[in-house]
Amino acid sequence: MTMRLGRRGLMGLGVAAGAVGLAGTPPRAATTTRKIALEEHFSTPELVKRGLVARPTNSETLFADIERRLADFDELRLAAMDAAGIDLSVLSVTTPGIQGMTDAKEAVSLAQASNDLLADVVRKRPKRYAGFAALPLQDPAAAAGELQRCVKELGFKGALINGQTEGHYLDDDRFLPFWERAHDLGVPVYLHPGLLPDKPAMFAGRPELDGPVWAWTADTGAHALRLIFGGACKRFPRLTIILGHMGETLPYLLWRLDSRYQLQVGQTLAQDERPSTLFRRNFAITTSGVFDPAPLAAAIATIGEDNILFSVDYPYEDSNAAAAFIENAPLSEASRAKICSGNARRLLHL
Ligand code: ZN
Repeated sequence: MTMRLGRRGLMGLGVAAGAVGLAGTPPRAATTTRKIALEEHFSTPELVKRGLVARPTNSETLFADIERRLADFDELRLAAMDAAGIDLSVLSVTTPGIQGMTDAKEAVSLAQASNDLLADVVRKRPKRYAGFAALPLQDPAAAAGELQRCVKELGFKGALINGQTEGHYLDDDRFLPFWERAHDLGVPVYLHPGLLPDKPAMFAGRPELDGPVWAWTADTGAHALRLIFGGACKRFPRLTIILGHMGETLPYLLWRLDSRYQLQVGQTLAQDERPSTLFRRNFAITTSGVFDPAPLAAAIATIGEDNILFSVDYPYEDSNAAAAFIENAPLSEASRAKICSGNARRLLHL
C-alpha cells in the first residue's frame, strides 16, 4: 500500500469533521478553550533501542514523523500544544513500553530510568508537562513501590499501563499489591492499549484488524471488563481507571452488559451490582483518538460529562484535529470547560 503524505505528516490524515462549526456559525478556533491532555506519549532512546515502541502504520514516512515527535519534548511538542490550546500535557511512555519486556529485573530498572527522565522533563517545564508513571508489573511489589516513588517523590499524577504484562491482565490476584497502593495513594490508573499476548483466530489472515484499527480496542475493552467482573472495582471503590479512545466502545454497550450479565447469572441484580454502575463509578474516559461528536454524545448520555476528559493521543493523532473537534462539538460552554480541563483538575488533584 502506498500513501501520499503531505509535508505535515500526520496532519494530512487529520479528521476534518471537527473543524465544521454549527450551522450558520464559523468554526471556533482550536485554542478557544484552555485544555489539559492526558494520553500524550513519549519514547526514550533506550525504549527505541530495545524495540519497545509499537509501529501502528505501514508507512515509513508516517512512522519517522511519529518517532521524531515521540522523542521530542521541546519545539515540536510545544508547538502542537500551543496550536491546540493545550496548557498541560500529562506524558506517558508509549506502547508497549515496559509492558513489552520479559525480564523482570530489567523492567524494574528501565521503568525507573524512564520515570527519572520524565521527571527531569517535567521539572524543566512544570507548567506545561506532568507525568504518569511507567510501571514494571513483571514484579508487582516493585511496581507498587515505583508508583509510590513516582507519586510521592517525583510528583506524578498516576500511572499508565500498556495492556497485559507477560500474558497477565490486571484482574490477576498477583497484581493486588499494585492496586492496593494505587487505591491508597488516591491516583488514577490509565489503562492504555498494549500488544496482544497471542494471535487470536478471529484476526487470522486479516492484518487490518490487528493493532489500533480493532484489536487494541477489543483487548483494552476486555481488560476493563475483566476488572469489573473480577472484583477490582468492588474491592477498591475509590479507584479511578481511565480509558482512552472514548472508553474503548464500552459507554455505548452499558445497557447490553447489564442485560446479558443478568441473563447469564439468572437473576435481576441490585443497581450497585451491575456492570454499568461499576463502570460509571470507577471509570473515566478520554476523547483521545476519537474526534467524532456522535460517540461523545453517547458517552455523555451514558456516563455523564463529569467522567469525560479531553486528550489527543499525541503524536499518533493530530492535536489540532482533537482541539477543533472538542471546540465545535455541540456542548454548553460549562460542559466544554469541564471536559477540556475541569474534570482533569479534579481527577489529577491539580
Ligand atoms: Zn495512546
